[in-house]
Amino acid sequence: MLSLYDTVSRKKVPLVPLRPDRVGIYTCGPTVYRYVHIGNLRTYLLTDLLLRAVRFDGLAPFSVQNITDMGHMHQEQLAQTEDKVIAAARAAGKTAKEIAEFFTGAFFRDCRRMNFLPSDVYPRASTHVPEMIAMAKELEGKGVTYGEGGYLYFDVTKAKGYGELSGAVLGEGETAGRTDESIHRRKNRPEDFSLWLAADPGREFLWESPWGLGWPGWHIECAAMAEKYLGREFDIHVGGVDLRFPHHENSRAMAMTATGGRFALLWVHAAHLLVDGRKMSKSLSNEYTLDDLESRGVSPMDFRYHCLTLHYRTPMNFTWAAQGASAKALARLREAFSGKGETGAGGGRADGAEGFRRRFREAIGDDLNAPRALAVVHEAARSDLPGDVVRELAREWDAVLGVGLLGEVSGEGAGESAPGGEAAPAEVVGLARSRDRCRRERRFAEADALRERIREAGYDVVDGKDGAGRVRKR
Ligand code: AMP
Ligand code: ZN
Repeated sequence: MLSLYDTVSRKKVPLVPLRPDRVGIYTCGPTVYRYVHIGNLRTYLLTDLLLRAVRFDGLAPFSVQNITDMGHMHQEQLAQTEDKVIAAARAAGKTAKEIAEFFTGAFFRDCRRMNFLPSDVYPRASTHVPEMIAMAKELEGKGVTYGEGGYLYFDVTKAKGYGELSGAVLGEGETAGRTDESIHRRKNRPEDFSLWLAADPGREFLWESPWGLGWPGWHIECAAMAEKYLGREFDIHVGGVDLRFPHHENSRAMAMTATGGRFALLWVHAAHLLVDGRKMSKSLSNEYTLDDLESRGVSPMDFRYHCLTLHYRTPMNFTWAAQGASAKALARLREAFSGKGETGAGGGRADGAEGFRRRFREAIGDDLNAPRALAVVHEAARSDLPGDVVRELAREWDAVLGVGLLGEVSGEGAGESAPGGEAAPAEVVGLARSRDRCRRERRFAEADALRERIREAGYDVVDGKDGAGRVRKR
């Protein structure tokens, strides 16, 4: 059984899925105005490891990872007046939409190179504004908001569970006394946050709402999309440690207040990656991407392996020397496994494999302890177990580690093109994947209902020989 360190209860908690058929997982995804850096990828690797560990436990993950294509995240965080997606678009002479699409594609490409399992849905913030408006209206109806002149704010003093996640205390937090005058002049207290903001000049993304023409605040994005795809309550919420406050504290308080449900039951946070002991930044030229790594001879699998040598809650100091040592260790491991041959040689007893199996499973089950699991892998590679037995262990374990222990990486291809090979909307692809799963589990009535929903969205499903449905525009 898998236990995870939960940020709210501050202890390891066994994962007891809310529903027998799936484990609902939400991950805060990228803001698509630039390439993701290796720090982002380390955090997204946590989601991938989690999905793989859930599968390894015989459960079916249902993963939702949003794409922030409106840029408001940083706008609110940094209290800037210009949307980053729009600023990048202006600089490149492109529309904000074009920029967001380009970097969304780049993100999926990086996910595939990292051998991440595809999420079931990648909802775009820009196509879920009606859901955000509905949640804001719900909150307004509950009397927990205020505002005027096109702005709507959430009153955190009326929130359910505010502070439980990050330990934030009203009036004492890092935002206390830090109110940006230009944007948030209408806020009653620094911790309150915007659900809706009035249109500002030059903004490309604007929507009509009960509060006038404008755009939604950042935190409501994840709350509304998580509710849409995972319901009022779901199993696990993932993100980097920097998002604990205010983003996760606020999303949680808002969603719990709006729906009356508990939102995520477990909160898992990844520690940050530093480069040579320093925070990555453009000015230090150390904001490395996967391409930067490759240009220095480090493959995505080398980097993936390197990340797994540390527990996800331990901050990682990326250095070229340590990365080089990890690449060598992975190469040695692959050599050891390939040198084992298909059968025979080794002389040891095959039943010794069970001890290794148990220890690997225990390590992963213990809050995804990848370094401990890797130690078991190294030990097995050095053991005198028969070659075919060791290779079988490597095959089983690579389903969790995903580094290509046997040389090849059998990627399922993250990103939306995975099941369909066509650029269908995330929702449609998500439906197709859910339908595949229903068919595999012989739940044909549900599969048919999903086919119907796909048809309603304007797509047909054609079943491939591999059992996966491909979606085609009708
Ligand atoms: P961003 O696009 O910067 O908001 O980050 C996307 C995801 O990557 C979030 O979950 C962040 O917490 C995470 N993240 C950002 N910077 C780092 C870093 N240096 N190391 C690890 N994760 C990071
Ligand atoms: Zn989020």
